[in-house]
Amino acid sequence: QPGEQVTEVVVLGAGPGGYSAAFRAADLGKRVTLIERHATLGGVCLNVGCIPSKALLHTAAIIDEAKALSAMGVTFATPEIDLDKMRAGKDKVVAKLTSGLAGMAKQRGVEVIQGTGRFSGPNRILVDTAEGERAVRFDHCIIACGSSPMTIPGFPHDDPRVMDSTDALEIRDIPERMLIVGGGIIGLEMATVYAALGTEIDVVELQSQLMPGCDTDLVRSFEKVAKKRYRKLMLETKVAAMTAADDGIQVRFEGKHDGEETYDKVLVAVGRRPNGALIDAEAAGVEVDQHGFIKVDQHMRTNVPHIYAIGDVVGGPMLAHKATHEAKVAAEVIAGQPALFDPLTIPSVAYTDPEVAWMGLTETKAKAEGIAYEKGVFPWAASGRALGIHRTEGMTKLLFDPETKRILGAGIVGPNAGELIGEAVLALEMGADMEDIALTIHPHPTLNETIGLAAEMAHGSITDLL
Ligand code: FAD
Repeated sequence: QPGEQVTEVVVLGAGPGGYSAAFRAADLGKRVTLIERHATLGGVCLNVGCIPSKALLHTAAIIDEAKALSAMGVTFATPEIDLDKMRAGKDKVVAKLTSGLAGMAKQRGVEVIQGTGRFSGPNRILVDTAEGERAVRFDHCIIACGSSPMTIPGFPHDDPRVMDSTDALEIRDIPERMLIVGGGIIGLEMATVYAALGTEIDVVELQSQLMPGCDTDLVRSFEKVAKKRYRKLMLETKVAAMTAADDGIQVRFEGKHDGEETYDKVLVAVGRRPNGALIDAEAAGVEVDQHGFIKVDQHMRTNVPHIYAIGDVVGGPMLAHKATHEAKVAAEVIAGQPALFDPLTIPSVAYTDPEVAWMGLTETKAKAEGIAYEKGVFPWAASGRALGIHRTEGMTKLLFDPETKRILGAGIVGPNAGELIGEAVLALEMGADMEDIALTIHPHPTLNETIGLAAEMAHGSITDLL
């Protein structure tokens, strides 16, 4: 049709999934159009997720470390916090990355259309732009429309004191008392930031442990620190009612911690909802389930062979590193390469204080499914480096196959656990066994050494090296 733009590959959504797919497809010689409703590329991760949260967590970590130094005889004055500057610093990091992406798109000849896209047929997307509607005709499409924060019906979400993660990252003020609804990674990371700034934090979680999905022993190590830092950790408790009152947000709890409290701010971090139901996928014949997820095969193909989907919208762990890997698979398959998404594991990291990271098999899953395993645990209380930095609450745990001795899973609690878990992920992908890890000479004294030592514990070859 006249006025219709024609492209080989259209990518819907420019988060880590979408921009990675667009760039890879362009690098493989395809003509690519990238549609994004927001003014900047990068999606949730760069704009209101991974990157701004980590920038704030870095500041929080320094405040906490400075406080902890009093045990070493160095006491700093109470920090003076300029929220405008802090926010500007975080925004600068985001802007640097998102403008970098715009440059990379340009360099590759990827055409970016700013607007909201929806399917109007199996080979056509309509985009609502500031200048009116545009139609894009495509040979292949990659849906990368991501996810949005979940809300709870009946909660006063239109009150600015009831925040989602995007609002919380704006750090408009430092509330005196704040409730975090949901003890998952996102809620606990924001709790880490606000607690460091001086907010008194309560956390409420429906399940019997924080960070559902993570092994209990790892979470318990985290909780030991969290219990000292937060006012209340309310497990097995649900928010039965939430009302916006003049003096604050009134919350009624039901369960193990029955009662009522009033908070200056509440952060609702109860999970994320895929955006699959918002793109008129049915017009293209793409099946979307009742939750908004789009089912794909290992080539990231939907039920419509020339339409692919990647990232948060296809389910699995909603993580940026999963989205970027799926993205490359989709782009490569479109370019005729024999790619498929088949990772042995996708690591999870809570960038809290202490950090908690895990990958591969968990003990919880092994027990539930009757999978045999051997484990090696190295408590950081026996690590010279952990002692030196006063972080002995940490632990490193490795799980092995009792027959082949190959690594099956790992969990780490402590500062930098997110950096440390990478070695275990590589070991799993490479099929390393207990001896491979135990006999690998790790530098001393490092926290990384605890991975070698955990393998030595399992192997029975531990020395008393501290
Ligand atoms: P998204 O990043 O959600 O991007 C989708 C894009 O599509 C958006 O830009 C959206 O505007 C656009 N879009 C949607 N519909 C349309 C449409 N109809 N038309 C045009 N554009 C559209 N993950 C990690 O791995 N590590 C972390 O440390 C981490 N921290 C996080 C912290 C927070 C506070 C949050 C909220 C998330 C965090 N995540 C983290 C998760 C991570 O951000 C997501 O997994 C990741 O962004 C998913 O990428 P995606 O490409 O699938 O989708």
